[in-house]
Amino acid sequence: MAPIRKVAIVGGGLAGLAAGGLLSRKGVQVSLFEANNKLGGCCATTTVDGYTFNDGALFVAVPSLLDFVFEQLGLSRQLFVPLRKITALQTTRLADGTVVRFGEGLDVSVTRPDGQVEARVARDQLEVLLRKWEPVLHLFIDDLVRHPLSIRRLVLKGWRQLPKLRGTLAAELDTAFTDPAIRAALSAAVLFSGVPSRQTPVASILGLIALFTEGLYLPEGGMGRIPAALSDSLAGRGGDIVLNADVRRIVLANGRARGIDVAGHGIIEADAEISTANAMSTFTWLLDPAEAPREAVRKVQRARLSHRAVAVQLGLSNDVTGTSYFNCVVPFMDDQDQVFVARAQEIDWPIYYVSTLVMPELAPPGGSVIEAFPPVDQHQSVELWDEQQEANVLDLVTRSLSRMHDCTSSRIECYRRGTIVTECTCTTVPSTVFRRWSVRRPCSRTGPRLGVCTWRARRHSPATVLRRRQSRVCSRPRPS
Ligand SMILES: Cc1cc2nc3c(=O)[nH]c(=O)nc-3n(C[C@H](O)[C@H](O)[C@H](O)COP(=O)(O)OP(=O)(O)OC[C@H]3O[C@@H](n4cnc5c(N)ncnc54)[C@H](O)[C@@H]3O)c2cc1C
Repeated sequence: MAPIRKVAIVGGGLAGLAAGGLLSRKGVQVSLFEANNKLGGCCATTTVDGYTFNDGALFVAVPSLLDFVFEQLGLSRQLFVPLRKITALQTTRLADGTVVRFGEGLDVSVTRPDGQVEARVARDQLEVLLRKWEPVLHLFIDDLVRHPLSIRRLVLKGWRQLPKLRGTLAAELDTAFTDPAIRAALSAAVLFSGVPSRQTPVASILGLIALFTEGLYLPEGGMGRIPAALSDSLAGRGGDIVLNADVRRIVLANGRARGIDVAGHGIIEADAEISTANAMSTFTWLLDPAEAPREAVRKVQRARLSHRAVAVQLGLSNDVTGTSYFNCVVPFMDDQDQVFVARAQEIDWPIYYVSTLVMPELAPPGGSVIEAFPPVDQHQSVELWDEQQEANVLDLVTRSLSRMHDCTSSRIECYRRGTIVTECTCTTVPSTVFRRWSVRRPCSRTGPRLGVCTWRARRHSPATVLRRRQSRVCSRPRPS
């Protein structure tokens, strides 16, 4: 086989940047093409009027893996991406008024409606759970994910641990915890997957185990610091990074990839191509499905999109106090599928993050950044929302926040809305799609307080072919 000297990469998110960095470190000539006008993909950030918003990822879990990637790239993670630990992790309010708080490590407390606070039983049961699952977590993060996927290695290293991975998250939480409030709070922590815990494979408990052992972190300056460090490193090693470059096709000849066809740049020949566009785009548009690996195409066609939510991001004039980083009002575990049901008049189960709690510098002094995820009707096209619908969703979010915080002195300085389709239930198809849109200021500086919305939205960044493609993915009906 001829040596690979030149590689073309589709996509400038973390995967593309990290792959490019590793290859350029080995002396390969790398050209990376990003459809957007900036790098970072789902891990980018955008700053508007002094407020820094996430374009997707909200925190760093398992920082040891980030360290590993940086080591492989010959970079000091500590120097380029200093991390700050999230010490007030999660506050969960339940339908009966019980409040569960997760702080740092095993700092867990349950406050009952009568004011009684309990901690010991939950902490003891959590310790037992960690003892059971920590070896599985370490098998994955210290070994399996650091090597190329191999069934032989998996069986050899994992035969003791793999049997634990049978069953659902809910069944495991039922066994481990006597208190339904703790079960509800823990299953709420993984609701972002879009699937209630009765349908979630128990493997997702590893996210919870990582949360209680390694903790969660934010990079100083925001999530965008990670792609910034990776792109500086790639560019510093001579890698070519091209923005606003929509890859339309992976060019095949005689059954082998020969290059990529980039809008405005023509055919770029390369010895190998890497697509980090989501699997649906790669196997549906970039490759002719007739020529793509049949098994991959089948998986993409069968993949189910799990639930829809819209990200509403607010830059507030004031500091939101009494919160954790992640906050939610949820039903008990077996009713948590209600969280995904959109209602026109109310957000029954608000879910939101307060990034300035950890990183006050993400807002101007005294301000805060909140990111809420109200569910959206599965059949409604969010892309076609008009100003009234835009205003409605903001009103719903601000009213739900007002129920939990004293917002009388809050003023929304700016907001963004994005459409999110969360993870496919088929884990081998990483098809998370995030679209960012309107960024705006209120009509006047003295203007709207929480709950009083007069909005004028505008598109922030130019629509691209990629977005049109993604919107087709977004509106893909869920197979029955
Ligand atoms: C809402 C949300 C919250 C998340 N929260 C977390 C979290 O808290 N913690 C965590 O660890 N992870 C989180 N994730 C996951 C994490 O962000 C992603 O796994 C990671 O950023 C994916 O990186 P990637 O490079 O694989 O893909 P992406 O970030 O999607 O990058 C792909 C890039 O390819 C570009 N592209 C696509 N098609 C083309 C084309 N045809 N031509 C050129 N360019 C193209 C895209 O514009 C994009 O920049 C979250 C994701 C989302 C969406």
